[in-house]
Amino acid sequence: MPIRRPPGTILRILLLVSAWISCPTGRFPAYAAEPAPRTAEPALRTAEPAPPAIPFAPFSPSASVEVAQSDSSDPSEPSFPSTAAFPPAISKARVAISDLRVYLEYDEDTSTFASWPVDKFGRKLPADQIARAVRMGLALWASVLPDMRFRLVNRASEANLLVRFGDYKSSGFGDAGGRAFLPTQWSTLDPECGRKRENRGPDGSPCEEWEHNIILMKNGRWAVKGADYRGNLEVYRYFAWIFDPAHPHYSKAGRCRDGRDSSAAWSDACVDFRRAPGYDSLQGVDLASVFQHEFGHALLGDHTYNDYECIDYHRRPIVSKDKCTRMYEGGFSSLFPGDGVDGWWNRRGIFEADAIRLKRMGYRVSYPVSRATIVLTRPGGAFIKTSDWREAQRAMIWPLQAKPLTPAQAKRELFVTELRLDSLVAGP
Ligand SMILES: [Zn+2]
Repeated sequence: MPIRRPPGTILRILLLVSAWISCPTGRFPAYAAEPAPRTAEPALRTAEPAPPAIPFAPFSPSASVEVAQSDSSDPSEPSFPSTAAFPPAISKARVAISDLRVYLEYDEDTSTFASWPVDKFGRKLPADQIARAVRMGLALWASVLPDMRFRLVNRASEANLLVRFGDYKSSGFGDAGGRAFLPTQWSTLDPECGRKRENRGPDGSPCEEWEHNIILMKNGRWAVKGADYRGNLEVYRYFAWIFDPAHPHYSKAGRCRDGRDSSAAWSDACVDFRRAPGYDSLQGVDLASVFQHEFGHALLGDHTYNDYECIDYHRRPIVSKDKCTRMYEGGFSSLFPGDGVDGWWNRRGIFEADAIRLKRMGYRVSYPVSRATIVLTRPGGAFIKTSDWREAQRAMIWPLQAKPLTPAQAKRELFVTELRLDSLVAGP
C-alpha cells in the first residue's frame, strides 16, 4: 500500500507540526499509511502525519511508518511453526519473539547500502552503544513478556530479524526515524532485500525491506549514552522557550514577530531550533527509545492513540506545553505517534498503557513485574534496582505526574539506563 499523504495543505501543516512536536520517535515521523482500522483496538490512530520538510526538526526522532497489513494468503509467508493456539493477530509475532535472533547491520562497506549511525555532529556512534541501544529497546518489551527470548547474533545467516541502519530516502521516514512492520507481517528474513540498494533486491527488482523481517533505522542524529540523562524538565523548558510570546516566533506579513499581536500566526519557520535551550549539548535522539518504539510496532501494530492536541492553530496559545510534553492524566506510552520531542530525552520504560495494549492483543504479560532487573541511575552515581515497573516509574517521577517536574524533582529523577537481561537471553 502506498504511503498516504495528508489531504490538504492546512491539514498537512498541522500534522506536520504535531508530528514533529508530538511523537516518540522522531522527527517527524514519517508516517506513512496506517493499517486499516481495527475493531479490537478502537483507540488506535488511523492516520498519521506525513514526512515533512521541517526546518527546525533535526531532532525529532522519528517514528516508524506503517504499511498496510499483509494478507495471510501471502505466499511469501514464513516458516514459523503452527500458531493455532495464539490469537491470530499476534500469532506470528508471538512465535517469532520466542526465539528472536537479531542481526545489526551498519557496516561501511561501500558495496552495501548499510551505513554507520552517527550523532548530531556526524560522529560515529561506538559499536557497543549501538548494540546497547538495540538490546535495551528489545529488553524493555521482553521485561514484561514472559514468552520473549532474544539475542544478538554475529551473522545474518543466524538471524530471523535484521536491524539495518542506512541513509534511507524513499522508505518514508525522517532522519532519526525508523520503519518497522506490523505483528501480522512477521516473515522470513531476507537480508538481500535492500542490502545494496534501498527497496531493491539483488537483481534490481523492487522489494520492501519491512516485508522481509528487516527493521530500518535511519543512520543519522542518534545518541545512546548521550541521552541517558536528558530529562523532562529540559523538554518542558524547551517548549516554554519556543512559545514564549516575547520571542519572535510568530509571523505576519512575512516577518517574524512576538506573539502579542493576535493576528500574527505562530510559525515554525521563525523558530530557530539552533538557538533552543540545550541545543548545543544535544547529541541526538535516543536510539534506545526509538528502537523500542519501532519494535513496539512489530508487537502491537499502530501507535497508541492520544486524545489530546498538542498544537491547535485555532487556540491561543496554539500549543499546550503540558500536552506537548506528555504531561496529562492518561499517562505515557512508548508507542505514542512520532513526537520529535520524545526522542530527545530518556523516556525508556514500559508503561501502563503499553501493558494494557499487550494484554488486549493476547500476549502473556507480567507487568508491573519486570523479568529483567531495571537499573535506574542519575548523574552522580545514585541508583536503584527494581523488578517492578511501577516502582521504576515512581523513581522516574514524570510518568506518574501530570505536570512539569520542579527543579528539585529533576535533581531526584532517576533514568532507566540498564536492564539486566540474565533471565531473558536465550541460548548459549
Ligand atoms: Zn511509530
